[in-house]
Amino acid sequence: MSKSCLFCKIISGEIPSTKVFENESVIAFKDIQPAAEKHLLFVHKSHTADIIDMSSNAPEQLAEVFAAIAEYATDKEFPNGFRLINNKGTGAGQTIFHTHFHLLGGKRLPGFH
Ligand code: 5GP
Ligand code: ZN
Repeated sequence: MSKSCLFCKIISGEIPSTKVFENESVIAFKDIQPAAEKHLLFVHKSHTADIIDMSSNAPEQLAEVFAAIAEYATDKEFPNGFRLINNKGTGAGQTIFHTHFHLLGGKRLPGFH
């Protein structure tokens, strides 16, 4: 728990969110500014700052987050598939420094190369 971290506050319930998935280690909630018809954020409950911090210092969290995504992102939930995005660093668009994965889907997504 990082006192000043927005996503830690969402995890603790101090800041409200629309949760779509939760287990003992991971939560997922709707992005407040959706960039697609469905736009969810998957977050491990233990704070790390970014994907490199998580991969270096808590690699087991990667498996837990991806298992949660696999459980949630079924063909029924995302019949057209989905896109998974992680931004690392301000230059890449990271604005919240609690590791999170954007799960985007719904109607056909624009090309991304
Ligand atoms: P980043 O830009 O760091 O990869 O992604 C941060 C995401 O968090 C953005 O897409 C932004 O819309 C979302 N976000 C920022 N503040 C809040 C909030 O208070 N609640 C929710 N649900 N999403 C937020
Ligand atoms: Zn945090």
